[in-house]
Amino acid sequence: MKHDIVILGVFVADTAYRASRQPKMGETLLGNGFALGPGGKGSNQAVAAAKAGGDTAFLSKLGKDAFADMALKTWKEAGVTPAVTQDPSSYTGAAYIFIEEGTGNNAIIVAPGAAATISPADMDANAELIGSAKVFVTQLEQPLDAAVRALEIARAGGATTVLNPAPAQKLDAAVFALCDYVTPNETETEILTGLPVTNVDQAKVAADKLLDMGVKTAIITLGAMGALYHSRTESVLVPAFKAGPVVETTGAGDAFNGGFAAAIARGTAPVDAVRFGSAVAGISVTRPGTAPSMPSRAEVEALLA
Ligand code: ADP
Repeated sequence: MKHDIVILGVFVADTAYRASRQPKMGETLLGNGFALGPGGKGSNQAVAAAKAGGDTAFLSKLGKDAFADMALKTWKEAGVTPAVTQDPSSYTGAAYIFIEEGTGNNAIIVAPGAAATISPADMDANAELIGSAKVFVTQLEQPLDAAVRALEIARAGGATTVLNPAPAQKLDAAVFALCDYVTPNETETEILTGLPVTNVDQAKVAADKLLDMGVKTAIITLGAMGALYHSRTESVLVPAFKAGPVVETTGAGDAFNGGFAAAIARGTAPVDAVRFGSAVAGISVTRPGTAPSMPSRAEVEALLA
């Protein structure tokens, strides 16, 4: 199996409950709303990349249950090729999302299930797929050692490698050395560097620190402020796109990473690929949901025209 873009990551079924408050221990509370949808950063990124026209395979582990069927259906509709194993003794990742009515604040439990057991040996078993990719992308929802092994294989095969360091954790220079692009958001940049990132000037200072820590090119996404592309030789702020009224920004970073990967795989120059990724994200925030909000390549090109 050979695909232009290979994305390693996690699928979770997002189960979102709305209620006036969280139940106390031992209490049963009636809620006022529920939504079920496909989530997981890696899966969202794969959907974004495929819908944006990239030939995309998604590498992961699922259980053998109803949420696995949901994952497979989501990928089929988006045109993502699954490279997944299903473990009947485990379960497919699921997230409990409590949304507090009135404030909109949330509290989340993620149970990654079978995806928590993704290992370096699994990456070796998929070395042909990973090693023949043009672009390889990973986040950090699955174990770090597997991500690192996959980055090594991708790099040895000559792929362009993208690390979306989410959720953020401390990383060695040796990990950054395997990555062509590292794409944290503001919060992840703060955790990685220990520096505040609330505006573009601070983002530039933090991006310099990332370079000092071994990152080759940092792409810091700054929500509605845009995305900062920052290397030793070039620093460009790509403004966010206004494609319409903002409805839901969850998954904006995933839309960005998927779109960026699709553009890089087509040979687009890096800063233009950041523009393409920003346009994908800019459209996705005008629609509800995460995976279902990802735009087609034609929609993105119309916005960029
Ligand atoms: P994350 O979802 O990981 O927190 P960001 O919020 O930084 O990521 O968003 C990623 C990208 O999505 C931004 O760089 C920007 O291009 C785009 N984006 C995010 N929020 C908006 C918004 N409100 N309007 C337009 N584009 C947005």
